[in-house]
Amino acid sequence: MDDPETLAERVRAGDLRLHELDDHADPETAAAARRAVVARETGAEFDAVADYAFDAAQASESAVENLVGGTQVPMGVAGPVPVDGGAADGDYYLPMATTEGALVASVNRGLSVIRGAGGATARVTKSGMTRAPVFSVDGVAEASEVVEWVGDNADALREAAESTTSHGELLEVDPYVVGDSVYLRFVYDTKDAMGMNMATIATREAAEVVEAETPASLVALSGNLCSDKKPAAINAVEGRGRTVTADVLIPRDTVEERLHTTPEAIEEANTRKNLVGSAKAGSLGFNAHAANTVAAVFLATGQDAAQVVEGANAITTAEAREDGLYASVSLASLEVGTVGGGTKLPTQAEGLDVLGLGGGGDPAGSNADALAEVIAAGALAGELSLLAALASRHLSSAHEDLGR
Ligand code: NAP
Repeated sequence: MDDPETLAERVRAGDLRLHELDDHADPETAAAARRAVVARETGAEFDAVADYAFDAAQASESAVENLVGGTQVPMGVAGPVPVDGGAADGDYYLPMATTEGALVASVNRGLSVIRGAGGATARVTKSGMTRAPVFSVDGVAEASEVVEWVGDNADALREAAESTTSHGELLEVDPYVVGDSVYLRFVYDTKDAMGMNMATIATREAAEVVEAETPASLVALSGNLCSDKKPAAINAVEGRGRTVTADVLIPRDTVEERLHTTPEAIEEANTRKNLVGSAKAGSLGFNAHAANTVAAVFLATGQDAAQVVEGANAITTAEAREDGLYASVSLASLEVGTVGGGTKLPTQAEGLDVLGLGGGGDPAGSNADALAEVIAAGALAGELSLLAALASRHLSSAHEDLGR
């Protein structure tokens, strides 16, 4: 077998293309050859990128094409925090991968306050991964025929969809009509998988039945009403993946001693910033920085990073009560899994192990539910910490103290 330099020379000579290297060498050698090609053309040095810990064959098979190496993101832990969830139960350290200094410290501070208050309560209130193919018809009369057929034939659609998976279950099909387009939003219980591949494969099978039995003609397996990796109100309203809320009641003296502010000041900061400010901005999310926690845990645990778009679609509430501060974060569309996708990669699997949530749960779906609940508790901690910092006006000094 050729060595990386010889293979790189063949690419430079036009004899091979970058993506064809896997057919001529093992994945590690192919990656080394690609680095040699790109390094020569760009002048980039790949010493750090070449130093990766995952199995090149596994990564090339399921995670990435044209592998050259690995990117490392520093990982910290915040917590532990007790979470009383529908599935989560116990104390959790939150693995967070980030390059934003002060983020882990901020979430850690919030988690410590939540811990001091006895822990967070969290529940997944709705669960369903969606795929919404778009079909064309000749007009609204035909569209209405298709919608009626779908309503009358739920069993046939379920049978077709579920023939492709041993875990997935079709929960409902919600039709939408726009002129001569029919969108069918398929909703699945995907258990411990985030489920986007599972739902797509199952929907392809069901869409064939729709095409065979109705005048509808499939235009695209995703008609964007799903809605994957785009900011969309449908996810905020109907949910996607896990819809999850975490809340906490923090005693007044804890707010004063640990957060150096008052429940009333936090409530005011939340109302004027997260609610009114976000409304004025036309924002879909009404929170301070839920995306920070979601993104960091997504990276640390092998979630699909682009789904931070909808994963961070959250509303934060804060209410001064006689006995303290009630605060909550509701994430409408948190798409998480503990099997499949990037969760199999070694550092990401270790991230899930920090939570004790790697692999399939018992019952199936409980590990992904617990992951969603713990992320919600982490997002709540991040919200509390930032709101408190704003309320006590020491945001800039915290950044200065940490040197960034
Ligand atoms: P997947 O790795 O494609 O599938 C999950 C697999 O896990 C299924 O084969 C399922 O088997 C199996 N499984 C084993 N134990 C399970 C359990 N306890 N619960 C659920 N499933 C279990 O992962 P996915 O979550 O469906 O899709 C995630 C991937 O999709 C990510 O890599 C993401 O980047 C990618 N993605 C795809 C699209 C798309 O449009 N296709 C869009 C966005 C992201 P059975 O199905 O046989 O039961």
